[in-house]
Amino acid sequence: MERSFAKEIESLKLGEGETFHGEGILAVTKALLQSGVAYVGGYQGAPVSHLLDVMVQAREYMDALGVHVEACTNEASAAAMLGASINYPMRGAVTWKSIVGTNVASDALSYLSTAGVLGGALIVVGEDYGEGASVALERTHAVALKSSLWLLDPRPNLPTIVRMVEAGFELSEASNTPVMLELRIRACHLQGAFAARANRPSPVSKNHPLDGPPSFDYERLSHPPATFRQEKLKADVRLPAARRFVAEHELNETFHGDVTELGIIVQGGLYNNVVRALQTLGLADLYGASRIPILALNVVYPLVPEEISAFCGAKQAVLVVEEGMPEFIEQDLAIQLRRADLQTRLHGKDMLQLAGEYTADVMVNGLIKFLGAHASALDTTAGARWLAKIGQTKHAALEALDGPLPPRPPTFCVGCPERPVFSAITLASREFGRPHIAADIGCHAFATFEPFSMGNSILGYGMSLASSAGVRPMQTRRPLAIMGDGGFWHNGLLSGAASNLLNKGDGVLVVMKNGYTSATGTQDVISSPDKAAKAQADAESAVHADRRIENTLRGLGVKWLRSVDNYRVGAVAKVLKEAMTTKYKGLKVIIAEGECQLERQRRIRPAGAKALAAGARLVRVKYGVDEDTCTGDHSCIRLSGCPTLTIKDNPDPLRRDPVATVIEGCVGCGLCGENAHAAVLCPSFYRAEIVQNPKPWDRLLAGVRTTIRDWLQ
Ligand code: SF4
Ligand code: SF4
Repeated sequence: MERSFAKEIESLKLGEGETFHGEGILAVTKALLQSGVAYVGGYQGAPVSHLLDVMVQAREYMDALGVHVEACTNEASAAAMLGASINYPMRGAVTWKSIVGTNVASDALSYLSTAGVLGGALIVVGEDYGEGASVALERTHAVALKSSLWLLDPRPNLPTIVRMVEAGFELSEASNTPVMLELRIRACHLQGAFAARANRPSPVSKNHPLDGPPSFDYERLSHPPATFRQEKLKADVRLPAARRFVAEHELNETFHGDVTELGIIVQGGLYNNVVRALQTLGLADLYGASRIPILALNVVYPLVPEEISAFCGAKQAVLVVEEGMPEFIEQDLAIQLRRADLQTRLHGKDMLQLAGEYTADVMVNGLIKFLGAHASALDTTAGARWLAKIGQTKHAALEALDGPLPPRPPTFCVGCPERPVFSAITLASREFGRPHIAADIGCHAFATFEPFSMGNSILGYGMSLASSAGVRPMQTRRPLAIMGDGGFWHNGLLSGAASNLLNKGDGVLVVMKNGYTSATGTQDVISSPDKAAKAQADAESAVHADRRIENTLRGLGVKWLRSVDNYRVGAVAKVLKEAMTTKYKGLKVIIAEGECQLERQRRIRPAGAKALAAGARLVRVKYGVDEDTCTGDHSCIRLSGCPTLTIKDNPDPLRRDPVATVIEGCVGCGLCGENAHAAVLCPSFYRAEIVQNPKPWDRLLAGVRTTIRDWLQ
């Protein structure tokens, strides 16, 4: 697990009137308990991973509350878990990263929204849209519209976020509809405080179980003929009920201002950005009081026509601030205004950029255009000056740096077990030719960047093998699909392996068995090493003991299966060559084993520190480069990309090429030595053992070695 949440768990226990301090996503976690959830589930992914991580670590406390916590194997299973709220008056919440997770979950979400719920059902999604996004830039809003799920987008402010979680359950129950709550990355990690309430026990829980199911009711099934009625209920009953609830409970917020002829309608999640832009223009004060009236939509779907008319009615023009395309809210507003026969001018995407994140300069630019068109008397020169200053800073930076900064793509951690596999692919493909590489989601996707630049497509989590199915018949060379163990269990086993076997495919699959879903913070998968395996492995990789992936594939009918130790580059290259060239027709799977280095270091470092403090002898391995031998051609760097294998000035005044060097931070994974050997590089690399708390014979040996070395020199 990425980190310990012991401190945060304590804040989940706060009672009535106590003050909660912390980040947004933990406030959501506390709000779930205050809302009386009976069950919580989800699949990890930024920026909402902490919600589930905290719940999993707080299992003892959750048990005491009677709350069931489930770490689901994918988002589809998390969404299906909400099925408990269809029949029973139980509140449940699930979480995942959107849009990817919502796509995986959408089958279950369709059925869930069709059947409707008795108990409140809340889906907390991390809205991964904007410049820091790590996956496809699409919006959850589209799914909410498609499936008639209500979508909350709370103003980034802890009391508002907490209120929306609590109101979300009530809204869900009032309209018998599941509710989604989207949080952007900044809202998840924003710090703040709110007055806590006591955690509410659920009337139905693990502590108060039900005595059997309700009587059979076909209306609870998303299945014809019930679906015909449910479809009508969605539009005729649930939608009006939701609008009524939103209006009566004033979930959307109006902030008044003195420039009453204008207005801004903003997605709640972007409210802070709008206020910041207005401050830059001199149209809002430090505390956020704006001269332009603002309607902050904490509920972006459904909109309430009466609220829109009330806000826009007396206004000459409104600006809609809505990130991403299509402009769902703007279109909805245009319909509402037309139906109400209001002549208020509607602006949005015509003044703000069509797609991409609405950063501060985008907002300021758009507001200057809007105010210029409708309130030319307002002084916006402060904003124009600010934009000009930013432009000057960018220009000065360009000049000082003699051009744009070189790209700095992310890369594998120091000593990552997946890096050697790509070194091996580089070496082996010199023999069998460059293959089509079907890449996947996970840490191994870092190989799409320099120095490996490997990957021809990414089609989703666990989809690499499936995505190579149409490539194989069209190529003389076998495509190579790569997926992690996280992706394998999430989707790859069925979508990839089973499908390939059914179709007698001839693909090659490399499964990176690092033991965890590392890219999301090293959460466990079903084949993660258990405590005993970790204790037994000590400083070694702890993933070798578990054979569930191998056994599952064998059980499925995979005949060609090899397991290799990632760090043995020569051996990995050999098995890759065998897989790519064997006469065997059928799925070939290579299990590339090596524990996630991040998790391994978290495991062995505290143990090492403890042993050192107790005076124990400790040996640490580090690699280095002999600067006198290094020729400066840097082929070792091109074959590795390890951040601690870098360059430094050549100490020889007669040579100008920088030499390779290993800096502090090398974890001694051994790849440098392996690469030097497998690729027959120069003999510059050396392996050093750093002995801490040396014993007398260590000192004696070091003394003898130093004497001999000095004598030879
Ligand atoms: S988190 Fe683990 S698997 Fe991912 S790059 Fe780092 S060491 Fe490699
Ligand atoms: S041995 Fe080489 S690849 Fe491994 S951590 Fe050290 S510098 Fe990086």
